[in-house]
Amino acid sequence: MTTTTAVAEPTGPSDTDTETAGLADLSDLAGFDALDESVRADPAAHRVLTGDRPTGPLHLGHYFGSLRNRVRLQRLGVEMFLVIPDYQVITDRDVADRLAEHTENLVLDYLATGIDADRATVFTHSAVPALNQLLLPFLSLVSVAELHRNPTVKDEIAHSSQAAVNGLMLTYPVHQAADILFCKADLVPVGKDQLPHLEVTRTVARRFNERYPHPDGTTVFPRPRALLDAAPLLLGTDGGKMSKSRGNSIPLAADEDTTARLLKGAKTDTDRRITYDPAGRPEVSNLVLLAALCQDRTPEEVAEEIGDGGAAALKRTVTEAVNEHFRPIRARRAELAADRGHLRDVLRAGSERANAIADATLAEVREVMGSL
Ligand code: ATP
Ligand code: MG
Repeated sequence: MTTTTAVAEPTGPSDTDTETAGLADLSDLAGFDALDESVRADPAAHRVLTGDRPTGPLHLGHYFGSLRNRVRLQRLGVEMFLVIPDYQVITDRDVADRLAEHTENLVLDYLATGIDADRATVFTHSAVPALNQLLLPFLSLVSVAELHRNPTVKDEIAHSSQAAVNGLMLTYPVHQAADILFCKADLVPVGKDQLPHLEVTRTVARRFNERYPHPDGTTVFPRPRALLDAAPLLLGTDGGKMSKSRGNSIPLAADEDTTARLLKGAKTDTDRRITYDPAGRPEVSNLVLLAALCQDRTPEEVAEEIGDGGAAALKRTVTEAVNEHFRPIRARRAELAADRGHLRDVLRAGSERANAIADATLAEVREVMGSL
């Protein structure tokens, strides 16, 4: 099937300060083709930064929302930075549980899905002090009202385990600006929930460049673009956004029986006729889409084939499709899991490289700001 990968490069009003926190209109996004051409023509002119919180195992939403695009871009020759934002775990909970284990498992998921660790820079937030220092000047570039307006922050606050909103949660999008801009990435493959955050990054970059240009008029930061894949918002088994920490996800690494059990419990509806109608029947359509993505078919074809089979037939189809698609990835993951030392080596090398780049960017920032 043709995937509907899109580049989010908001123009016009959504690029203004007042709409910093607005969710970009997905229907306005340019197609992937133009980007594909420019990346193929000169992969070295681009850099990707993206990442995942170490809060649990990566799931199917990560795969079809971002991971596939990462692997694809890396294979085209684009340099890849993957941040594991460990400090950001405590935006919505008091303590980060099993941090080291979750961090290693993320590296494992990356390698199993095809990220080439020799060419990628994989690192944790806490290991790169200069990156975190960028947060200070960046925080001065956004208003408190803008921070409060961010719809994704509002959603995460609604799902937070904490009674009161902490300052880290409120400033989360600005940390992400530091994550992306420290290495001057211009492409950010993410799910739809990240679009408001990308807007903040773009605003921070623009305001910084306007306030602090180099003496020759050149600027420090690029204005990165979000890159969406075919499932920018995959739903979980409860019908809400599939999330690592909401108990509704199907992990990439789940075994086949667990996958079957989780999918069996997925929310559907009572209409036996299976159709693909994301607006009218979001849960059923989500399962249809999942099967289609795994089988490289269109959702309409999948729905048509199941016809009047009802939710049970739909779930059987999705379970087979998911297990089939992820079998080689899961096998590779099991092999890689035997060598935990290698995972740590990947992080060690990544953090060394990320530190060198963050130090250089921080030095440039201090210079244009006139620091001694
Ligand atoms: P948590 O519950 O801890 O916030 P999460 O599942 O939301 O976990 P993140 O680490 O917050 O995962 O997000 C990592 C990346 O995966 C982001 O680019 C995000 O947009 C993308 N992503 C997460 N969930 C989905 C989903 N359900 N569909 C598509 N993309 C997703
Ligand atoms: Mg999240």
